[in-house]
Amino acid sequence: MHFHILTIFPDFFRGPLDFGIVRRAREAGLMETSLHDLRAYTSDKHRTVDDRPFGGGEGMVLKPEPIFACVDGLNLASRESRLNREAKQSVILLSAQGERFEQALASKLAALETIVLICGRYEGVDERVSSALADREISIGDYVLSGGELGAAVIVDAVTRLIPGTLGNEASSRQESFTATRQLGSGTTGADSTCGSGGLLDYPHYTRPAEFRGIPVPDVLVSGDHQQIRRWRRRTALEKTLRNRPDLLKQVALEKEDREILAKLRSDL
Ligand code: SAM
Repeated sequence: MHFHILTIFPDFFRGPLDFGIVRRAREAGLMETSLHDLRAYTSDKHRTVDDRPFGGGEGMVLKPEPIFACVDGLNLASRESRLNREAKQSVILLSAQGERFEQALASKLAALETIVLICGRYEGVDERVSSALADREISIGDYVLSGGELGAAVIVDAVTRLIPGTLGNEASSRQESFTATRQLGSGTTGADSTCGSGGLLDYPHYTRPAEFRGIPVPDVLVSGDHQQIRRWRRRTALEKTLRNRPDLLKQVALEKEDREILAKLRSDL
């Protein structure tokens, strides 16, 4: 996977791409990142990347020329073959007006070979970037950021952890919050392999010390009873999802045991 990031602030990425899983994935050759300073694709002596909006109004808008010039230089497949998925490439414009970035979209993007992330600034980006260059617009949430860089870093991080081989334990990405894989009743016996999220929020995690500031780790987790641990994790994942994200429950394939747990949790509310 090769991420190309187009930005007027390439130094912004010095931190986010240099730690943990993203860094290890890069060092292991599982992914590559290239930062492209849009000012390098300007032709005037002031290296101008923005201009006033036609029609008047506040602020400045990122000009199309440096963005198109930079993407042209990447020698990607045609926009048509990207859009009809012949090419495993995508050109993405970060935008508050885009489709919402969620785990399912991260999984789709993880199957690509090249992802180009265009970071807007100021009042936004000349609309021709969206209508004639980018394949999709993505928003990382319903709020307005000052620039697309944070969004690009979020996408690189979330997609990288889904590239096979990036996580030490492959099971850990399957069990995370929002991951749609159904695992309950999958026939495996260890506690770790039977309580995966299945679209729920993740279950609570504990580590040593067994008691901290008077708060003990739940007894079941130190019982060694894998069946009970699986049940506890499933119940607490259901509980957390019901409390914090009840909307997710509509998309989850619930088993009879889950429905009974939920009915009990709801009656206790
Ligand atoms: N005028 C724009 C609007 O109201 O939608 C906001 C522009 S914002 C100040 C500047 C840039 O930040 C955008 O072009 C986009 O690249 C990025 N941005 C802002 N909010 C974002 C979000 N929620 N997700 C992704 N990118 C965002």
